[in-house]
Amino acid sequence: METFAEHYASMCDAIGKYMPNADMELINKAVEYAQEKHKDQRRKDGSPYIIHPLAVAEIVAEMGLDTDAILGALLHDCIEDTDASHGDIETLFGPTAAELVEGVTKLTRANFSSTEQAQMENLRKMFMAMSKDIRVVLIKIADRLHNMRTMQYQTPEKQILKCRETMDIYAPLAHRLGMQKIKWELEDIALRYLEPEAYNQIMTFLNARKEQDQAFMNAIQEKITTRLSTMGIRNTTYGRIKHVYSIYRKMQAQGKIIDELYDLYAFRVIVDTIPNCYNVLGHIHDLFNLVPGRFKDYISTPKPNMYQSLHTTVIGSQGIPFEVQIRTWEMHETAEYGIAAHWKYKQGSGGGTEKDFEWVRRLLESQQDTDAEDYVHSLKIDMFDDEVFVFTPRGKIVSLPAGSTPIDFAYAIHSGVGNAMVGAKVNNRIANIDTKLQNGDIVEVLTSKSAKGPSRDWLNICKSNQARTKIKQWFKKERREENIVHGKASFESEMKRLGLPLSALADEELSAALLKKMAFDTWDDMYAAIGYGGLTAAKAVGRIREDINRATKPAPDKNPAMPLRITPEAAKSRHAVNGVIVEDIDSCMIKFSKCCTPVPGDPIVGFITKGYGVSIHRTDCPNALNREDPRQAGRWVRVRWANQEEQPFDTTLELECVTRDGLLLDVATAMTTARLRVKELNGKDLPGGRSVFTVRFEVKNVEELVAVRNRLMSIPDVISSRRGQN
Ligand code: MN
Repeated sequence: METFAEHYASMCDAIGKYMPNADMELINKAVEYAQEKHKDQRRKDGSPYIIHPLAVAEIVAEMGLDTDAILGALLHDCIEDTDASHGDIETLFGPTAAELVEGVTKLTRANFSSTEQAQMENLRKMFMAMSKDIRVVLIKIADRLHNMRTMQYQTPEKQILKCRETMDIYAPLAHRLGMQKIKWELEDIALRYLEPEAYNQIMTFLNARKEQDQAFMNAIQEKITTRLSTMGIRNTTYGRIKHVYSIYRKMQAQGKIIDELYDLYAFRVIVDTIPNCYNVLGHIHDLFNLVPGRFKDYISTPKPNMYQSLHTTVIGSQGIPFEVQIRTWEMHETAEYGIAAHWKYKQGSGGGTEKDFEWVRRLLESQQDTDAEDYVHSLKIDMFDDEVFVFTPRGKIVSLPAGSTPIDFAYAIHSGVGNAMVGAKVNNRIANIDTKLQNGDIVEVLTSKSAKGPSRDWLNICKSNQARTKIKQWFKKERREENIVHGKASFESEMKRLGLPLSALADEELSAALLKKMAFDTWDDMYAAIGYGGLTAAKAVGRIREDINRATKPAPDKNPAMPLRITPEAAKSRHAVNGVIVEDIDSCMIKFSKCCTPVPGDPIVGFITKGYGVSIHRTDCPNALNREDPRQAGRWVRVRWANQEEQPFDTTLELECVTRDGLLLDVATAMTTARLRVKELNGKDLPGGRSVFTVRFEVKNVEELVAVRNRLMSIPDVISSRRGQN
């Protein structure tokens, strides 16, 4: 049985090591308070409950956190397990400690177990999102670590459950926060309960060769330190066996039994400066043979969780490979304690290194002060501000845009659920369907077979595009008759507004041409589209307005007695401008876009510019790729080449070449031989002995272009050619 005195002493010891001027009076008050509150509780091993908060506080102290975090750790189970309230703690220990305890309690109450694998990432995000202050997560991880260390007293069922949860949630979180040491310990303990056979096999194997391993590691360590000391490099060097879970993972991944694994040793060399890290690397590669392809420089490119080190794998004299990790002391602290270490350095130096750690920066509020206490306060978790995570009654997690409502939730589950929705419960209480959902809410959708379906208001209430799209789809499908009536009314009122005669639609020939242009089979189809919101009445009328005007009003023609009617035949006989026919627009300015220089034969499309007529692009031009974009819809028009192939077009080719004298002349000669009119020919040297030539010239059609391109490609040292952007 563990005693209060032992744990209290080692906690004080851990605090004294890094915070000699900690407010021990307040900390002791929290110890006494927790002891009093938990006095009737026992741990599973029979020891007084206070041992647990003391141990958690000790781990938090090892992480190097501040006084508030230690108070939070000491009091972390008070709200959950005793009659203490948030207010009590706030009065006695201040608002920050109370907030931390509240946060830990919230995480304790949320159920993070029993969820399918695919949901784990969401769960971890939710975990983070629920804790407004990163210290809450750190205290919760410390709490879990101590519970894992005392796992032997739990029932087998509880062991499996807790260990699974540790593997799924806590170890990856520790990893994400860069807390390597804690992550390893969590994984090793969890493995012991989840895969006892494998765990025991590995332990037996490692124990059997303990002495041998130790001798090997001592010899290597000796060799490294001797060399470095001779060179005057101050260092701390030690070897270790890789942790059990990582050996287990390797066996699984490589399908090997443990005797076949060779890569069990890792050495660390810790030095004072970054230049010395690279120095040491040189000496290691000089002392041992390196295994190719294993060198990694995480100093110049840190891992996302801010881990930095040089890694290399080498082979010793006995032919046994081992990994060497080389780092500075600061990198070492960061590797062991992650975000918590970062804090410690911040407190010590007063200066900031956070600019090196992109993701930590994202955690920080922009206008924060550099004062250590403030820094700690402002380390908030706002990474997932734009998402909200909620549960189904069965515990499945659904991630929605922040501000989502039960409507969004229902449609995220299934459109059938959304369409049959008549109400919702949030956390078991009837809620309005426009309630804004919060992280961790349990949402239940109430459905009915006789539901009338979504209402049009829902389109304004819902937050997610998914819900909006599905609601629109429903109106499109289920309410055709209603949509036709709505759509017809708004179409007709728009026609009237613009003074267009409805009788135009009665003309069979004109009606057919208009429908074809609108790409609808019947007017009802178009009305339905307007009714469900797929098309606005203004847009629909706008597209056919000109045609109706032209067909129904006398044209300003030599022969005014004959009204000009638009027919498919008429469209064909449009005038070509610059060799291009723009469908539906009779005569307009045409210009060829400079970005893709189309020539006859290229598939093309036109864009109605603001004031410069229609610009012609190749259909594969990057500027023409987003033709579906609703902001541009309606401005893209169909165009085609007229059969006038004699008119020349400007186009540009870019040739990539190996640089050599006379190449420019060769290109010019090829162009002359092909009897093409060259308008521009430039060369530019690129690094690496390459050049690029840009040649702008006239061609009549795409066949001619292909021919000259082939000719140019046959010039020695021309590597590639592409259609240019001029
Ligand atoms: Mn606890």
